[in-house]
Amino acid sequence: MKYTSLKDNLIKKQHELEQRLADTGKHIRRESGPLDKDFAEQAVETENDEVIYALSASAKTEINNIKKALARIDQGKYDSCINCGGRISYKRLQAIPYTTLCIQCANDNGE
Ligand SMILES: [Zn+2]
Repeated sequence: MKYTSLKDNLIKKQHELEQRLADTGKHIRRESGPLDKDFAEQAVETENDEVIYALSASAKTEINNIKKALARIDQGKYDSCINCGGRISYKRLQAIPYTTLCIQCANDNGE
């Protein structure tokens, strides 16, 4: 299959992200201790939690993108632009494995 290596990379990346998400979940549980700490310490912890939540949110978005890309590969429309139906170049797919736009549409969208 034409996109086997890109597909393997996507699957690998997905596993990495899922592992990271799992670790992040553990981290949040471990860090959320009793509430009797002084304010400064709590503020720092809240900040850390926010960073962690932001990271896991972006990991989830990325996993979603990867799943969509994998579905597009299975459906045989991985290299067709969702906007114009034109062909997305292999080079572009290599660079941005879960893009859904050809280079022209991406430029038009200011991506
Ligand atoms: Zn296009």
